Amino acid sequence: MNPLASLIIALLLPCLSQMDTLKPDIWGGGVSRIPASGQQLWEERAPHQVFFHVKTTKRIVALTFDDGPHPSYTPAILAVLHAHHAHGTFFVVGNEVKHYPHILREIIRDGNELGNHTSNHPKLSQLTEKEIRSCDELIEDVTGFRPVLLRPPGGHISDRLLTLSRKTGHVLIMWTWDVDAKDWMKPGIRTIVQKIVDHVDPGDIIILHDGGGKRSQTVEALPIILSDLARRGYACVSVSELFRQTHIQREGPQK
Ligand SMILES: [Zn+2]
Repeated sequence: MNPLASLIIALLLPCLSQMDTLKPDIWGGGVSRIPASGQQLWEERAPHQVFFHVKTTKRIVALTFDDGPHPSYTPAILAVLHAHHAHGTFFVVGNEVKHYPHILREIIRDGNELGNHTSNHPKLSQLTEKEIRSCDELIEDVTGFRPVLLRPPGGHISDRLLTLSRKTGHVLIMWTWDVDAKDWMKPGIRTIVQKIVDHVDPGDIIILHDGGGKRSQTVEALPIILSDLARRGYACVSVSELFRQTHIQREGPQK
C-alpha cells in the first residue's frame, strides 16, 4: 500500500470505529448510519434520558410496537397480549391516530401504554419540535394522557434529538439491537421468533411493528414468542412497567 493510502486509513480509523453500522431507515427507504458503539455512547452521555435496555437480572422484558395504530393488526396484537397476560408500549404515529382514534382507546383499556413516534414519521434530519408536539396533542385529545416516552423514527439519535426530547418532556426509548428481528422486512415467522427467543436477556426492550405495512407475520410470531418467554420465566411488560419493576429513574417531564 502506498504511504499516502496508509496515512488516510490511519486518520480514518478512529472515526470508522465510532460509526458505520448500516441501518436501514424504516420508512425513508434510504440507508443511514448510526454508531456501532452508539448504544453505550448515548447511554453514558444521557443515562436517564436514553434507554436501549435496562440493567437487571430479573427475568423481565419490555415489548414495544411501532408505527400503528392499525385497524386490524393492532387489535390482533392486543388480543394476543391479553391471552398471554402480557403488556406492551405502542409507539404510535400521529397521522394514524387521526384515522383510528378508537384503536388508541383499545390499547390503553387493556393496561398497555402509549408512546410518541412523531406525527409523520420523518427522517431524523427532518424531525422538528412540531412533529413531536403534534403527536403528543393527538394522543392527549383521544386519551387525556400526554405520553412521556418518545421513539424516534428509524431509531436514529443525535444531540439535536436529545435536546428536542428534553424540551418536549420526553425520554428516548430505543430498543435492544440483538433482539431486533426486523419484522417490518417480513423475514418469515420463524426468523422473527428465533431472533428474539435466541438472544433475549433480562431487561431487553423488544421492538416489533403493528403498522407501516403488512404485519401478519408479526401477529403470528407473537404468541410463539410469548409462550417461549413465559416458559422460561420472563414477564413481558410495557416500558414504564419495566422501569418500575427495576427501579429505573427516568427524567421527569420538563415543561
Ligand atoms: Zn417507525
